[in-house]
Amino acid sequence: MLTGMVWSLYKLSASLTLASASIPSTELAVSPGKSHAALQNGTSRYKIVIDPGHGGKDPGAAGVSGKQEKAYTLALSKKVFDQLRQDPAFDVVMTRTDDTFVELGGRAQIANELGADAFISIHGNTYKDPDVSGTETFYYADDSSALAHKVHEQLVKTTGFKDRGVKKEGWQVLRDSKHPAVLLEVGYLTNPDNETDMLNEARQIRTAEAIANGIKKYFTEF
Ligand SMILES: [Zn+2]
Repeated sequence: MLTGMVWSLYKLSASLTLASASIPSTELAVSPGKSHAALQNGTSRYKIVIDPGHGGKDPGAAGVSGKQEKAYTLALSKKVFDQLRQDPAFDVVMTRTDDTFVELGGRAQIANELGADAFISIHGNTYKDPDVSGTETFYYADDSSALAHKVHEQLVKTTGFKDRGVKKEGWQVLRDSKHPAVLLEVGYLTNPDNETDMLNEARQIRTAEAIANGIKKYFTEF
């Protein structure tokens, strides 16, 4: 009985989510065969942890313009936070909200202690060759693969950057996460074209919408 009630609540919030995201009704189909932590623990809100890469004494990569990765990740993460927070299906937490240093181990721990349903770490990439560009998404545990693919698909569609694929990699924040976790390398800050787009305010808003939509699709389409 409880399961049925929770499922009804879930379907209601899923419908609201899909309506607000203007997703075609053909994608309303959901499979009750699989369940996520939020359904298992009897709540209808998914807990999402957004992790802006680097911060404080760790600036991350330096872009072509000299701007630092830590500022980019924070700016984009705040926009993703704002997007998801508008959706009643999600509770959203950030690992940092200003220019402070958070240990790598502490980042996944925040998500683990919250019992988060998803952990999303946001980064900008770097390489010595400025011609290298594109979007890459990483996951580690097999149960994070579906989330990685959903978010990556939306991200690539929106950035229009070269699709460098979804890859399995043992980055610490991914290894430490007990729940589905992905690390997004949105584009290369060392590539002039990518950096210009990544630092553009309007493009950042669209990129944040894409990341939020990928997360919503993962939780509503299973
Ligand atoms: Zn980084």
